[in-house]
Amino acid sequence: MLHEFAYHRPASLEEALDFLKEKRSEATAFAGGTDLFVNIRAGLARPAHVVDLKSIRELQELSWDDKEGLSIGACVTVNDLLEFPETSRYYPVLHAAGDELATYQLRNRATVVGNIVTASPCGDYGSPLLTLSGEVVLVSAAGERRVPLQEFITGVKKTIIKPDEIVSRIIVPVTWAGAAGGYEKLKRIKGHDLGVVSVAMIRHNDTIRCAVSSAAPTPVLLPDMPASTPVKKVQEKAQEMISPIDDVRCTREYRAFMVNVFIGRLMARLDGARQEASA
Ligand SMILES: Cc1cc2nc3c(=O)[nH]c(=O)nc-3n(C[C@H](O)[C@H](O)[C@H](O)COP(=O)(O)OP(=O)(O)OC[C@H]3O[C@@H](n4cnc5c(N)ncnc54)[C@H](O)[C@@H]3O)c2cc1C
Repeated sequence: MLHEFAYHRPASLEEALDFLKEKRSEATAFAGGTDLFVNIRAGLARPAHVVDLKSIRELQELSWDDKEGLSIGACVTVNDLLEFPETSRYYPVLHAAGDELATYQLRNRATVVGNIVTASPCGDYGSPLLTLSGEVVLVSAAGERRVPLQEFITGVKKTIIKPDEIVSRIIVPVTWAGAAGGYEKLKRIKGHDLGVVSVAMIRHNDTIRCAVSSAAPTPVLLPDMPASTPVKKVQEKAQEMISPIDDVRCTREYRAFMVNVFIGRLMARLDGARQEASA
């Protein structure tokens, strides 16, 4: 049975932040609710108050600017991002990952920010946003701070977010805008499913960036490498940095094996795309 909780729908950011300041850990903010309400139903989360952010206009903003980059507000759904023309034009890796996240119906509710705040090792947006040097903007009644995604997620379902803070948006800087990108995800079934292991990769001019999810407590970003690096070297670097585990969905050996397979596939695909573009 569900525990009793109060539902709040603030109309402004100020109202939401004042409420969170007053209630602190008794209150939990949410957007799509596709993670939070599953956890409440399972008894894993027991907030006394839930704060629905969806009516707050500035959190719905999705914009592109050639100086700031892509700004993804807290209430932007995965489908909003997929349908935004600048996503595939400048950040195809975000499009590829969004396409792999659950079903069309779920993507109409699920937000990109919710995916990152959940901080599940198998979340589909962790590794692609790492390759793009994504930044997280946190706000509270006391002010705003901006942190790299790499510092935001600290462990399995753990982040640096404080009880009176919310994430207002994610910023994807222009640094890697226009990079070719791809995302490979292993699932137990052909349809929609959580990732057993996944790899995101971008290639910009002569640099490749690669990140791996579901193979360590947090998504792992490999150091930048020249695009001419042999596949085997990239695979070796990934194996040095990941620490896959055995669980009900997969063995650690198979996870490690598939990381190598995905790196090989993505490097071949991104190299092919570059040759096509220069032909
Ligand atoms: C059937 C099903 C299939 C799924 N398949 C996938 C999949 O294939 N890949 C995948 O990655 N995920 C999947 N998920 C998980 C989930 O849908 C995603 O993680 C989704 O992106 C979460 O977004 P949301 O807006 O629904 O999050 P919510 O449930 O609203 O929030 C998630 C967490 O973040 C917090 N939160 C949300 N927004 C903010 C904010 N602005 N500030 C502070 N805290 C906030 C909430 O308190 C909660 O703890 C699936 C879930 C279901 C139910």
